[in-house]
Amino acid sequence: IKKLAVLTSGGDAPGMNVAIRAVVRTAIYHGIEVVGVMEGYAGMIRNDFRPMKSRDVSDIISKGGTILKTARCEEFRTKEGRAIAYENAKAQGIDALVVIGGDGSFQGAKLFSEEFDIPTVGIPGTIDNDLFGTDSTIGYDTALNTVVSAVDKIRDTATSHKRVFFVEVMGRDAGFLALRSGIGSGAEAILIPEVQTPYDKLKQFLNDKTKGHKSSSIVIVAEGAEGMKEGGVFKLAERVNEDYPELDIRVSVLGHMQRGGAPSAFDRVLASQLGEAAVVALMDDQQSVMVGIQNNKISHVPFNQAIKNKKNVNLDLLKLAEILSI
Ligand code: ATP
Repeated sequence: IKKLAVLTSGGDAPGMNVAIRAVVRTAIYHGIEVVGVMEGYAGMIRNDFRPMKSRDVSDIISKGGTILKTARCEEFRTKEGRAIAYENAKAQGIDALVVIGGDGSFQGAKLFSEEFDIPTVGIPGTIDNDLFGTDSTIGYDTALNTVVSAVDKIRDTATSHKRVFFVEVMGRDAGFLALRSGIGSGAEAILIPEVQTPYDKLKQFLNDKTKGHKSSSIVIVAEGAEGMKEGGVFKLAERVNEDYPELDIRVSVLGHMQRGGAPSAFDRVLASQLGEAAVVALMDDQQSVMVGIQNNKISHVPFNQAIKNKKNVNLDLLKLAEILSI
């Protein structure tokens, strides 16, 4: 390869900057020219390419977000949109592409690399950790730490007032963040999309805890958990409160703060390794793969598998939460 483009796409995640830095510097190290694409696929279609030198990625290792910005781009879902992106990239002399993003971004990358002669490699960047083929995605560990420290603070006030808190965390389709942050923060119950928790069980559960004279209870609720469709976490809390008026229930929605902040040391190392691995994979003539790390080893997973195969949450952790919250 002579000239490589890198972009970030879909939801942002802490550590994306670290991955950009690693891609840029690894490429330059190997004598490959690099350009950054602004705002993901939208920048390819809009012809927004910026040359990247080693110093352009100075001092971003500790910064959340992405200096290349990110966007959702409807036009790239169409063949015509992707053709414009290709023509623009070709005119720039780009002969390889690195896409940092989630499964939607990889679906786009898969189509693009099947349709045109620009080999593409993906780097998993999402706080959801919902990509098959890597033990962890970039941003997940940072988001976990953010949630745990936020819940620690909520716990202080919950305990002072003997309250029950329903804390909503991100995860419309996957419960990884909710599950691990629940264990890490000593939650009394964890509701995730992968497991149906009958309402009665939740009620019973809270009743047991409060009867046991716990000074506070934290229920971690993933956005996509059972019972969240009909009115969300506020509605859920309201329902429980109607059945147990004696409980002092509050709700906290953590929201977008879960996406921000300085990447954790773990995410920095992961993003550095995956950034290098993506460039090396392209130099080795690999394409249409996502690079990941499984059991401490770099893996190359075809886009197809990364998108279609489902990564399973560790359900033992749910039982663990139950055991440890008696
Ligand atoms: P996150 O997991 O954080 O939401 P993501 O990468 O899954 O990140 P999406 O919004 O699903 O985020 O996808 C990002 C972009 O990828 C879309 O805006 C679109 O440009 C492109 N994309 C997604 N799905 C497809 C598809 N089926 N075909 C072509 N392009 C797609």
